[in-house]
Parts: sequence; structure tokens; C-alpha cells
Amino acid sequence: MLIRRAEIGDGELRDVRLVGDRISELAEGLVAANGEEVVDAEGGALLPGLHDHHLHLFALAAARCSVVCGPPGPSNRDELAAVLRSANPRDGWIRGVGYHDSVAGPLDRWSLDRLEPDRPLRIQHRSGALWIVNSLGANRLGLDAAIDVPGVERSADGRANGRLLRIDGWLRERLGEASPPDFSGVGACLAGFGVTGVTDATPGNGPVEFEAFGSAVARRDLPQRLIVMGRADLPDTPTHRVERGARKLLLAEDALPEFDELVGWMRDAHAIDRPVAVHCVTRAELVLAATAFAAAGSHPGDRIEHASVAPPDVVELLSELPLTVVTQPNFIHERGDAYLEEVEVGERAWLYRCRGWLEAGIPLGGGTDAPFGDPDPWNAMRAAVERSTRRGQVMGEQEALAPERALALFTTPSNAPGGAPRRVEAGALADLCLLTRPWSEARRDLSSRQVRITFCEGRRVHGA
Ligand SMILES: [Zn+2]
Repeated sequence: MLIRRAEIGDGELRDVRLVGDRISELAEGLVAANGEEVVDAEGGALLPGLHDHHLHLFALAAARCSVVCGPPGPSNRDELAAVLRSANPRDGWIRGVGYHDSVAGPLDRWSLDRLEPDRPLRIQHRSGALWIVNSLGANRLGLDAAIDVPGVERSADGRANGRLLRIDGWLRERLGEASPPDFSGVGACLAGFGVTGVTDATPGNGPVEFEAFGSAVARRDLPQRLIVMGRADLPDTPTHRVERGARKLLLAEDALPEFDELVGWMRDAHAIDRPVAVHCVTRAELVLAATAFAAAGSHPGDRIEHASVAPPDVVELLSELPLTVVTQPNFIHERGDAYLEEVEVGERAWLYRCRGWLEAGIPLGGGTDAPFGDPDPWNAMRAAVERSTRRGQVMGEQEALAPERALALFTTPSNAPGGAPRRVEAGALADLCLLTRPWSEARRDLSSRQVRITFCEGRRVHGA
């Protein structure tokens, strides 16, 4: 494959030859070999393929056959009822995602019965931590039987109230969702954004999920390169383009582990040469994770996910540790209007920071947290530059990045989200993203609409 007249990082136009899964040559005036396919880039920028450093593939595949139950979808009870009425069940269930309490308050089985009494319904809270089922759903899951599963909430009289907290694995098993979902739609969707690699940050990933990812990649349903985070028992047997990543721990402020337990847990991971990734969305979670990392010692690749609220003293604490932060500037756009109502004025500048981390010398990578965030990384880049909410309010202006730095959040190596961006150069893997325009134009309007062709391992996976 010969890509003619592509704009490379230095702004110069070059011809780029791909052989096998690599870039073999970059030069001016390369001559096409007999039968070699030629693409004229017409001066469009040729970028390293994007790597989304934090998303959830199983949930993303499932979300594609679900109804959206919160903003930017329904924003009140009547709109939610309308969305549910028009939903088509799959496997007998209506499956909702993206619920936020601003729509119709905290939900339980009885409030869902009033919205949908006739068909089994399960709705996932936007946080990803909670599912709520209606009574028909509770019935199907056997919640009213005397099962003792931590995470099945019960009201004072002992009846299950339909709220299922952090038991996705149990729920999947109970629903008989043993067979892995079809990832081809997800793979194609991400390829359309120029994404050639992703890190799946799901804490519950184990051998079953690892194998499912391996076969989805082998079938090319997922053309992307994968880093899989997850549990302690995640296999250490890399298959083609699928690697084991950090051991993932989700901290939750209402049920924080003991300090010594957390430190031991980090040391266990490090002892088998695995980095640790800790999900921290509140200040308390971030402080606990940082102090535990300080006590446990560090391992290359240790990271903090989200770091959603980071006051200056906490940034300073983190700057003393060899940690990478992987953040989601897209939430400023997607959830910013709600933050303006929920978060105190003085704390708004500390939400999903970008420049603050970099100025403190902390390596910073980007992820979308799809499906809890929009999977399009260009929207995240734009949010990192503009810091603008859906309604156009600017939030944390001093955290804004230049377009080049926003792009770099997604072009760093898969195993070093805060490292130096990958480069389009001879010998590099041909995971590439060709834009319709030169970078000088693209940088003014960061959007996936300008992704023309995506290459994974030298093969075209998006774009004619
Ligand atoms: Zn996540």
C-alpha cells in the first residue's frame, strides 16, 4: 500500500509505504510497485491511530442494543416513560442505560413498575455501578427467593427493592449472557473515529472476557489492538494484539477498603509484575489511592483512572509519585451542565483537569469511558480544548489544552498513556488515521467527520 502526499508530523508532504503490518518507507516521490494499491492523501494529515486508554467493550456492545434513559436523552419522568414505551425488548428484557437521578429521582422496583409494569425492565445507572430492575425483572432474576448475594439491596421488610449494586458479573450469569456479544459493530464504530487501539478498564475482566476479546480480535470483529485490565486471575498469555494490562481496583467512597488491605492488594499485583489502576472519582478516593501507592511502592504503568476531582494539594501529592493519570475531558461537555448545579463553585475548577496535571509534571492520557461517555475521542479532544458544556458554559478554562496536546492524549503508546506520542515513521506499526485535511485546518475543528481512512496493521478498516 502506498499513501501518496500525506502530511506527516512536521507539516511536510511525504509518500508513505505500508508493507505487512509496518510502515516501511517515508519519502518524497516513491514509485508504486506493480499491483501496489495507491491512495492519494491529497495533503491530509496522516496521524498515528488513536488509542482510547479507558473504555468498556462488553458494556459498549450491550449499550448498542439499549435505550438511553438519561440526558442527553430523556430529562424527566414523562420523557423516560415515552422512551420505555417505544423500546423493543431483547431476550424478553427492555434494557436501559445512562440513567441519572435528575430524570425521575432514585429508582427502585416499585417506581419502575409504575413506568413499565408489563415487560421485564432493567436500567443501568450512568455511574455504571448500579442496575435497577422492575418487579417482573426481579422475578426473572429470582430476587424474591431467599438468595444471599451481597449487592442485592433489600428494604426494611427484607424484600429485594430491585437495586443491584456492583454485581454485573452475577447479573450476567443470572441472565444467561454467557456467550460474548457481537463486537463487530463496536469495532467498526471505533474504526470510524480513527481508533486503532483501546484499553478495556473493566474491573471484573477475567479469563472468560480475555478469551472473548482474543477471539473477537482473531475474527477481526475488533480490528483494534487491546489492553485488557481486570482481576488478579486475568491470564498472562498475550494473543495477537491482545495483552493483559493493569489489575484494576474500583474505589467507592461509601465502602472504602482498609488502608493495609489496599496496600497489600497493590503489592500482590506488583509481585507478579502487574501495574495497578485505581478508579478514583472523589477527593477522598484519590487521597487514599495516592497514600496507598506511596506505601506500596511503584511499578511502571501504575495509574489513576478519572481523578475527577483534584484540588491543588492532591495534585501536589500525586506529583511526588510515579503515577499516570488517565482522564475523561469529554465529561466536562457531556455532564458539565449537571456539575454546574451539583458541584460547589470553588470546586468546579478541579473537575477533569488537564493542564493542571501537566504543569505538575504528571503524565496524562485520555480515555472516553465509553459507554458511560461518548465513544468518539474527537469529542473528548474538543472538550479538552474548549472546556465547554453542552449548553455552552465554559468550565475550568485554565485547564484547557492546545489541540496538539489534546490529540496527544490519544496518540501515546497503548502501555504508556502519558508517554511521548507515537510517530508516523519507518518501522512503526501501521496503525494509522488519515484525515481529509491538513492538521492546520483539522486543529481548528476537532471532529471525527474528518477521519477519512483508518488502518490497523496496514489494513484498511474504515474508509473507502
Ligand atoms: Zn470506566
